[in-house]
This record gives sequence, structure tokens and C-alpha cells, in this order.
Amino acid sequence: MLRWKIGDVAVTKVVEMEATGGSRFLLPQATPEAVLPMTWLQPHFADETGRLRMSIHTFVIEVRGRRIVVDTCLGNDKTGRRIPTWNNLDLPFLGDLEAAGFARDSIDTVLCTHLHVDHVGWNTMLVDGKWVPTFPQARYLMGRVEFAHWRAAQERPDMAAVFADSVKPVHDAGLVDLVETDHRITNEISLIPTLGHTPGHVSVVIKSKGEEALITGDFMHHPCQIAHPEWCSAADSDPETGQRTRERMLEELASRPVLVIGTHFAGATAGRIVKDGDTYRMDV
Ligand SMILES: [Zn+2]
Repeated sequence: MLRWKIGDVAVTKVVEMEATGGSRFLLPQATPEAVLPMTWLQPHFADETGRLRMSIHTFVIEVRGRRIVVDTCLGNDKTGRRIPTWNNLDLPFLGDLEAAGFARDSIDTVLCTHLHVDHVGWNTMLVDGKWVPTFPQARYLMGRVEFAHWRAAQERPDMAAVFADSVKPVHDAGLVDLVETDHRITNEISLIPTLGHTPGHVSVVIKSKGEEALITGDFMHHPCQIAHPEWCSAADSDPETGQRTRERMLEELASRPVLVIGTHFAGATAGRIVKDGDTYRMDV
């Protein structure tokens, strides 16, 4: 289990699922031939044949008694997902979360960087045939713009299913606070807009005692996009804005020491962005 300290703040990674290869649907330009020359991706982020390693995990942020879960993965028992292997999961995620010291009832805040299927799943769990909030003591923070977008976008059955089983039940339970993209959660933890992947996408900035970290969300899915910010994810709702966001963020992150913690980055998961010729790489 990985854990990082940023001043007084601790961030712990709890994994739901990891995979090597099979990510071409997401990053079509990341062919083995294009990935292999980026030798710094091995071994954490790619294997020796150029296949990408990816991860679906949550982060728990702890600071002064607060416990904030960032993104809630896929969840168990969900159906109607477009990716076949994401249906009817029966994974030990909640047990792993508890074994890491985080009982469900001890979580006071859940933050969704955006409302895609792999970021809202454990918002709810199936009990006696009903979707109930997994974290009943928590306020669930969701972007106001993001929430309005997905509530209105019901034309794709898989997107509608995600909203119905993983977003609407916590909203109906009165647990959701709709927030702006620059919302401050604590003195140390705030949101910044990193738009393009979705209309209201945010990343999480952590600053404490002169140290700084950033939880990416999905403005980049894999470290190969650090060297190739022009590689857009097939899931980006506005690819041009997404590329501009990556270019702006990478330039900023390379300009000072910031621990970048990737929401789908496998292996070491975190590192620093550094200049590499006329582009960037991540030093872990
Ligand atoms: Zn994602």
C-alpha cells in the first residue's frame, strides 16, 4: 500500500483493479512502437513489450481528523457498463479499505473529480436490492456543472445507468453538496478546474508546510501523456480543451517541486514532472 506525506497531510492509495494492456480503447495513439522509446515508463507504467500498465484506485486524504475519499472506482454489482469486465464485479475493495484503516463509517467526505463510471462506483453499494450510500457519514462533493451535465445527458444507456445507480441515490439521500471547480475543502486542500476530459472536471491541490501535491483526476490518464500531451483520451468530451489543460498543467508542474499523484497511474503512482528536451517526463 502506498502512502505519501505532504506536510501535515497524508494520502493513501487503495487499489480496486490493475491491468496491463487492453487500454488501446482509451489511448489509441499509445501503440507499443510509440511507447517503447519512452524508457522511463518502465517498469512502473509500461512493460518491456510497450503495453501500458493502468490502475483503478481511490485515494484517502487525512488531515487534522478529516478523512476525504477522492474518487470511488467502479463498485461491485453494477450492470449496464459499456466495458464488459466492469459489470457484476465482486472485488474486495471495501475490505481492503477497512484493512488500510478506513472503515466506511469513518469517512467524512467523498470527492468525485468527475462523474465517469470509474470515479463514482463505490458511492453506492447494493443492500437488499437497493443502492444505498456506501459512506453514510460523508458529504459527497460533486461539481455543480459536472452534476448538471450528467443529469441532463441521458441519451447513452451506459451513462444513464451510472447516474441512476451511483449518483442519484446519494443525491436523493441528501448527502450531495454541489461545489464550484475552485472549491476549498480545508485550509490545505482545494479544487482546481482541469477541464476537457469532462465539462466540470477538477484536480485536487494539497499544500501544507511548504510542500505541495496534485491529485490529477483524469486530465491525463497515463504518464505517456506527460511526454505526449497531444495524445487525447478517447473518453475526453472536449479533446482540444483537454490538450490545452495538459499543456498548461505540465508547464506549471515542471516549474516547481510538486508531487503529482496520478488517478490511474500504476506502480509508484506519483512523481515529479521534469523537462525532457522539448517535452516532459515523470521522475518517480
Ligand atoms: Zn477514470
